[in-house]
Amino acid sequence: MNYRRLREKMVEEQLVPRGIKDGKVLLAFSKVEREKFVPSGLQRSTYNDFPLSIGEEQTISQPYIAALMTQNLKLRKDDKILEIGTGSGYQTAILAELSKMVYSVERIKTLAEKAKKKLKELGYTNVKILVGDGTMGWEEFSPYDRILVTAGAKRVPLPLINQLKEEGIMVIPVGGAYSQQLKIIQKEKNKIKSDILERCIFVPLIGKYGWSEDEVNG
Ligand code: SAM
Repeated sequence: MNYRRLREKMVEEQLVPRGIKDGKVLLAFSKVEREKFVPSGLQRSTYNDFPLSIGEEQTISQPYIAALMTQNLKLRKDDKILEIGTGSGYQTAILAELSKMVYSVERIKTLAEKAKKKLKELGYTNVKILVGDGTMGWEEFSPYDRILVTAGAKRVPLPLINQLKEEGIMVIPVGGAYSQQLKIIQKEKNKIKSDILERCIFVPLIGKYGWSEDEVNG
């Protein structure tokens, strides 16, 4: 399969027409080999316009949603980023292409370990992964210039607001367990400004400042 051609087609047909126009973001999505992060049985669907299962009842997000979140983070090469929900590690690789350092937290150990191995194999040296509850953030390396949450939150977790730098930007899906609104949170003079991007569907953010396992599993 010509993945390179499929990747270019994904950028041209799924990202550009929907308003992804930041050249650096488009370049990162043209470069990162998504097929390396997708389970072997789903390779043929790698560049399709929908999320895919990565095991453990989790997903790798639709390329467009990953690009929309990335564009709205307005990344700069020197940024230190906190990502919550490493999943396959694909979005982590995109962030690593566009910033100085990415700290990523994943609650499911097997996923975190797989992603860590893959990112190392691909030569990313500016990524650190922690197994834990990302609703608590990652205090040790805070504050962060940018925070990206890739699971659906009940509300914006307070530790994440506290670990975001002044003038920092956070992109986070907030709402119900199975349908949310993608929000951009900006911290300015200790005030929080929030804008809504669009409706989205993410797996739930489970943790102390997120959903409980009981709420999600019924
Ligand atoms: N961005 C990922 C990728 O490119 O593959 C997809 C992320 S997937 C939609 C959401 C991830 O968030 C899942 O792997 C899930 O286990 C994780 N997650 C849910 N709650 C979490 C929490 N409190 N802390 C860390 N990770 C969490």
